[in-house]
Amino acid sequence: MNSGVDYAGPRAAFATLGGSPTWGLGDRFHEFAATRGHARLGLSRPRTPYGLGPQVEHYRGPSGREFLRIPTYGQVVDEDPGLHASEWKTFWILWKAGVRVLLVGGTSGSCDWRRTAADEDAVRPGDFVLPKSYLTRDTMPTGLPGTELEFCLPRQVAIMDDPFCPPLAEALRARAGRLADFRFRRIHGPESSVVLNRWLAGNGFESLATCRMLEASGRQIGMPVITGDCVSPVLARVCGMHLAYYHVVANWGTGLEPDDPTISLNRLYMQTLPTVAASLELAFLDEASEPATCRCRELLRPRPPEYAQALSPPAAK
Ligand SMILES: [Zn+2]
Repeated sequence: MNSGVDYAGPRAAFATLGGSPTWGLGDRFHEFAATRGHARLGLSRPRTPYGLGPQVEHYRGPSGREFLRIPTYGQVVDEDPGLHASEWKTFWILWKAGVRVLLVGGTSGSCDWRRTAADEDAVRPGDFVLPKSYLTRDTMPTGLPGTELEFCLPRQVAIMDDPFCPPLAEALRARAGRLADFRFRRIHGPESSVVLNRWLAGNGFESLATCRMLEASGRQIGMPVITGDCVSPVLARVCGMHLAYYHVVANWGTGLEPDDPTISLNRLYMQTLPTVAASLELAFLDEASEPATCRCRELLRPRPPEYAQALSPPAAK
């Protein structure tokens, strides 16, 4: 790690990490964006304290708003995201770039226990979801090593109520309901209390046992669970960002239904979703304003100085 690295990339208050909903566009997101009046101003590959970072795209939308895009959660081809500190690199860039509103999209399976054809309230494939809360399968990153955010728990604690900024969820809901040529079967807002079983990277889907467990726990707590990609909500909060997260349900949790989801998934990712999701993301980034009524900042609570003094002092530099 090299804490002395200076950030040399573009700056903006708004950003997206893209995600699986726009995978089908491959590396042509900017071409689609151009058809909607968004100009790609530049492309860079900033150095970070943890090594060379992911690609950063700098855009200007039709309203004049500038924003950044880092493709697919900051992941790099042939690199294990965990082994290569992908989430640290990505958030260090966003933090240094001054990002305050971060848009992330995900897809994956629903483990809703209400799976009968008659139950229209269930979270089903084809639905658009704005989750209320999250669970996590891994030990997710919560700070940025080598910076003042490395381990800030004694100085400030992130309360994880409203991990996904509620006013931004409303903005996404409004946008998703106004798409020109596409209707989601149903939009589940935060009032539906859907829980995202957050996960970011790995080479397999959830096992049948994991899906059954998520199904049973969802029924028990009265909150349907979906599985999907998302960055660490704690890291976003600690970095002072409002996290806007949307999810498109692509399939039932693996093994919960007899069909192998991979065939229909490729169709969904390649044909149906990419332009729908890209239109949604571009419109959101161009028109959303930084929320003033949420608690995202307030929920990063300062603590008494005694707490930090109760730890060993830092090593002399
Ligand atoms: Zn917020």
